[in-house]
Formats: sequence, C-alpha cells, structure tokens
Amino acid sequence: MIRVGIGTDKHRLGVGRPLLLAGVKIESPKGAVGHSDADALAHAVIDAVLGAAGLGDIGHHFPDSDPKWKGADSMEMLRKTVEILKSAGYKPVNIDAVVHIERPKLGRHKQEMAANLADALGIPRHMANVKAKTGEELDSVGRGEAIEAFAIAQVETMAP
Ligand code: MG
Repeated sequence: MIRVGIGTDKHRLGVGRPLLLAGVKIESPKGAVGHSDADALAHAVIDAVLGAAGLGDIGHHFPDSDPKWKGADSMEMLRKTVEILKSAGYKPVNIDAVVHIERPKLGRHKQEMAANLADALGIPRHMANVKAKTGEELDSVGRGEAIEAFAIAQVETMAP
C-alpha cells in the first residue's frame, strides 16, 4: 500500500544564526531562528513522512518543550523519524520539496540537499527532489524575514 503526506515549515530569519537546509550549511548573512537547529527543509520532510504514515507530526514526536531537542540536529531527527515509521511498518518511497527564501540563491545546493535527504530516508538519491523559489519581494519571505519549506512524501507498507 502506498500513502502520501504533506509537510510545511516556516522559520524567522535572524542575523548571526546559521542557515541549515537538509543539513547543508549555507553561506548567508541571516539564518533561521528556532528551538532546534531550525532546519526548515528537514522539518517539512519529517512532517510529510509522518503524515504519510498517519503518525502525527513533528511536535508530537520531538516536542519543543523538551530540552532534549534544543539545538537538535534535524537530520538526526529525520533518521529517528524513519525508525518510527519502520516500527509502524512503513518505509519512505520518495519525497519532493520546495524551499522559499529570498536570498541567498540555493541553486548550487539543491543536489546536495536532496542527496542528504535521500540518505537520511534510506531511499535512492533519484527519489528525493528539492526545488527553490524566492518570494518575489512579497510577504515575509520576500522581505527576507522568513524561510518556508514545503514537502510531499510517499511511504509504502513494508513486506511482512
Ligand atoms: Mg521548524
């Protein structure tokens, strides 16, 4: 059986914070502000695969009220998510994602971000895809105040 799920995430951008996307450290004057490492792309993918398996959301499994997840490595959280899926009898099939940020341009990082996600999900690299867009100088993304990520995932039931 194949199931599909969606995930989104949004973080404020602040000066002096690192910008991490799918574990890739991106050169940027502003980074994402958050309780964990604020990796918006990883968070959107976590919610997409959890959603596909009907297993709730990132806040349920990695509550930001828990000091354990303060400054946490979100790619480690993604690998843990795959374990949670496995315990429920599901494994990831493919993901597609879009990151919205005004600057910097993410073009040269897209392949590495997709490869990192594929490796963490335990799927072939051609089964993960990452796209990037700007906010066209509109809204909080366009004003450079926020980063937003969207993801969709397919999971399948594992053979018994
Ligand atoms: Mg987040």
